[in-house]
Amino acid sequence: MPVAAMRSIAQLRIPPNALAMCQTAAQDAIAALRKASQTLKEDNANISYDDLAALQRYYLINEDDPEIGPRAAEIRRLIKATKQGITNQQITVDYGHYNSAQRNTRTHVMYLGRDNFTRPNRLLRYFIHEASHMYANTDDMAGYLNNNGTYRNPGVNQQSAANNADSLACLVLALSFVALE
Ligand SMILES: [Zn+2]
Repeated sequence: MPVAAMRSIAQLRIPPNALAMCQTAAQDAIAALRKASQTLKEDNANISYDDLAALQRYYLINEDDPEIGPRAAEIRRLIKATKQGITNQQITVDYGHYNSAQRNTRTHVMYLGRDNFTRPNRLLRYFIHEASHMYANTDDMAGYLNNNGTYRNPGVNQQSAANNADSLACLVLALSFVALE
């Protein structure tokens, strides 16, 4: 994977090995977000069965949905904004009791739980999730997903999924065949 044109990730309290994991996660995030953006291009007639299944699972969009084009374009806009933020900003990562980040941040600080740092795929997932809050103003909707990729009760509908941070993160990972942890 080429070294992304990403600015460095600043350390606050995390040790060097965790910092290195975050830098890897940031580069992997950029690559996965780019791939997802290309997959969702309007003129992409070759979207695969697996890609459609991921859109259905995380955004409740069906193949025969007449709005699939505009809905995919909106998801793509959020994905591109997230990628741009990770690429262009210096993000500071600190340990948090839970994963969190400010919406539309000017400080570019992300808090990640320590349990992410023993599971690289989980770290990647929440790095993308939190970056989408920071740079695409996504929200945590009722349909926030658990680790099995199923919706927590009461679940999401098509409208609430559209701006849901974990729908974005899980779709992006699915389009790059990264398993959820
Ligand atoms: Zn969140």
